[in-house]
Amino acid sequence: KLYNQVQETKGNIRVFCRCRPLSKEETSAGYKAVVDFDGARDGDIGIITGGSTKKTFRFDRVYTPKDDQAGVYADASPLVTSVLDGYNVCIFAYGQTGTGKTFTMEGTEKNRGVNYRTLEELFQIARERKETVTYDICVSVLEVYNEQIRDLLATSPSSKKLEIKQAAEGFHHVPGIVQAKVESIKEVWDVLQAGSNARAVGSNNINEHSSRSHCMLCIMVKAKNLMNGECTKSKLWLVDLAGSERLAKTEVQGERLKEAQNINKSLSALGDVISALANKSSHVPYRNSKLTHLLQDSLGGDSKALMFVQISPSENDVGETLSSLNFSSRVR
Ligand code: ADP
Ligand code: MG
Repeated sequence: KLYNQVQETKGNIRVFCRCRPLSKEETSAGYKAVVDFDGARDGDIGIITGGSTKKTFRFDRVYTPKDDQAGVYADASPLVTSVLDGYNVCIFAYGQTGTGKTFTMEGTEKNRGVNYRTLEELFQIARERKETVTYDICVSVLEVYNEQIRDLLATSPSSKKLEIKQAAEGFHHVPGIVQAKVESIKEVWDVLQAGSNARAVGSNNINEHSSRSHCMLCIMVKAKNLMNGECTKSKLWLVDLAGSERLAKTEVQGERLKEAQNINKSLSALGDVISALANKSSHVPYRNSKLTHLLQDSLGGDSKALMFVQISPSENDVGETLSSLNFSSRVR
């Protein structure tokens, strides 16, 4: 019911805002929560920026720290499952490091996120439809770091640079990457874990590394309708973006400066693409970053996109919170 309301308000992109709970560290440091959820049911969220000053933002959905993984997934479900009907879909999590992007997308073994729940539901629907449609489901897991694509399912490191190519029928793809065929939900967790573990390889601090790279899961679906023989190919991207925080000028030197510039470049490219689409602009600048170039088929046209804007409730993160909320309001 709620989702229908959401669909009426917008074209092809929806924005959901999710706020994590105040952490133990923040509580013991005495930081207060500055988020007002009184209008959350209507999609309003308020940030108290000092004294009695409050800035409000409107979203398609607002999740309070009490909303659980199942509830969040339920709202995304109609969108993700439309990949089985031939739509290209893209979901991404945006926000400062530590706000729950990975929690929303990957989740934990006990609190599984959108990635796992999506595949679980796709398999379930595929099973229900097996008399009329056969589905072939493959997954790839990529990382984009410093404008370079890395295949997280590759068993041996590739010596060749991975590049994005456009196939004759218009589809964008990365020749040479692993496309793991998954037949059941049992195989999925292992494949996702393999991808997740591969992010750590070659980096001395996995948390820092993952906050500076985009982790991208691509689910490719081939459907064959057994009644009329019709075949369709579609894909669903599930993206855990690099942290959107600005680094202190003093911190940014050498390798870190290059990383920061590449993150800025790709996140602003994403903002540019989405706002060009929202404004029905005639030129959509997909080619300005690897991220947007990879997502090209799933952003625009009759594809469907959803952005989770992840925020912290803490008063000491207000600057970053406002900057994330402002970023997302560009797309509305
Ligand atoms: P990010 O990927 O944006 O850097 P994480 O997903 O790693 O952030 O989240 C940071 C911490 O906050 C993790 O310990 C995570 O489990 C916790 N967390 C994030 N969102 C929630 C939530 N909605 N409920 C409970 N814990 C959360
Ligand atoms: Mg993360």
